[in-house]
Amino acid sequence: MAAVFDALVIGVGPAGLIIAAELCDRGLKVANLAPTVATAPWPNTYGIWVDELEALNLSPELLEHHWRNCVSYFAPGATQHQRDYGLFDKTKFQNYLLQRCASVTWHQGKAQDIEHSEQHSAVTTDSGTALTARIVIDASGHFPALSQRPQKSDVAYQAAYGVVGKFSKPPVEPGQFVLMDFRAEHLTDAERQQPPTFSYEMDLGNGIHFVEETSLAYAPAIGFDVLKGRMEKRLAARGIEILEEQHIERCLFPMNLPLPDRSQSLIAFGGASSMVHPASGYMVGAMLRRGPELGAAIASAIKGDPNASPQTIAHQGWDTLWNRDRLRKHYLYLFGLNALMGFEEARLNHHFSTFFSLPQSSWAGFLADTLTTQELVGAMVGMFGQAPNDVRWGLMRSVGGHGDLLWQAVAA
Ligand SMILES: Cc1cc2nc3c(=O)[nH]c(=O)nc-3n(C[C@H](O)[C@H](O)[C@H](O)COP(=O)(O)OP(=O)(O)OC[C@H]3O[C@@H](n4cnc5c(N)ncnc54)[C@H](O)[C@@H]3O)c2cc1C
Repeated sequence: MAAVFDALVIGVGPAGLIIAAELCDRGLKVANLAPTVATAPWPNTYGIWVDELEALNLSPELLEHHWRNCVSYFAPGATQHQRDYGLFDKTKFQNYLLQRCASVTWHQGKAQDIEHSEQHSAVTTDSGTALTARIVIDASGHFPALSQRPQKSDVAYQAAYGVVGKFSKPPVEPGQFVLMDFRAEHLTDAERQQPPTFSYEMDLGNGIHFVEETSLAYAPAIGFDVLKGRMEKRLAARGIEILEEQHIERCLFPMNLPLPDRSQSLIAFGGASSMVHPASGYMVGAMLRRGPELGAAIASAIKGDPNASPQTIAHQGWDTLWNRDRLRKHYLYLFGLNALMGFEEARLNHHFSTFFSLPQSSWAGFLADTLTTQELVGAMVGMFGQAPNDVRWGLMRSVGGHGDLLWQAVAA
């Protein structure tokens, strides 16, 4: 009979390694299944606010870049964020997690199917191998291999097209990071009637910059050709040419997929568990914050009862990962996302100007999902109170169109 692991984690992206590390830290016998080796470089670049890393007691050494001068443009003038932002050194971050995963048994292959019994779950791979564990954690990304969720037709995507390279003039000030540049004077009136996009820009040092035209969220996704055209037009209007393209980033991921079916006998984590923040698209900080509590819940269920079924263990995991408070906040964020997607350029700029004028603890807590439900509601009401009339009207109109989400927040 094949070995029965305590836990089988599917995927070696950030979600897979974070949850595998948490389970290993708690002394569980962990296996992992992914099509690539665990050391395969991650394709994406991950950004995070530096104080989020500090709050997790993680070393700033995990960052490859760290900016103190962080601004956005929602109006003619710059909004100074007065908060440091960083980009992970992907290799260091991955190695930090892999060190904690030293006891993992790695398997290469794709998860294809899963069957549950009272004692364990068995995952079949594309080569026909069966791997058995007391609980399976699906961390195979936004469109998971095994985890089930309801269908949704009008999924909103964050989309971005960016260039890392050399430019004829620096697109930003030396040592600067631009979170969102929504200025759009370079577009025609017709283009300005289309969904707004912003530029995410940074000085990477040694004459290299990253410039990325981004659509925060839209259904259907804004095409890469549109984003590329807008990026080129924005640069041209500033008299900037791209001299050398070292890397092209094409970013596309869903922002509002339904939550997974929480009666399943497996657990999903990361993109597979719809953990992307619906109003920002960030997820790495959330996985690092929520990994320990999920790891602890799984370890306690497994160690607490040697006969606990996958269904029982999964139940404890789901109740921790998506507890009532989290569910409520999730629906409030989805409401916010739907409101934002209906805002045209001027209203969106007014919205963000107001949002970033809230106390930093409110806007930072909103973005990191570290506020309690009560604090979140307080921040949203405070924002409504301070916002100009066009934003208030847009939010009220959204209550008409998406009030069901507010109702779900109450009913959760
Ligand atoms: C270009 C880009 C930039 C982003 N930037 C940021 C950012 O700056 N900050 C932030 O917080 N978030 C960011 N995100 C959002 C989010 O954090 C990422 O999408 C993140 O990679 C999701 O992590 P994950 O581990 O859930 O999924 P993934 O990173 O997609 O990893 C999935 C893993 O599952 C494996 N897998 C897939 N199918 C199977 C299968 N059948 N069997 C076994 N294994 C399988 C894959 O090989 C992979 O190892 C970004 C996303 C993109 C696309």
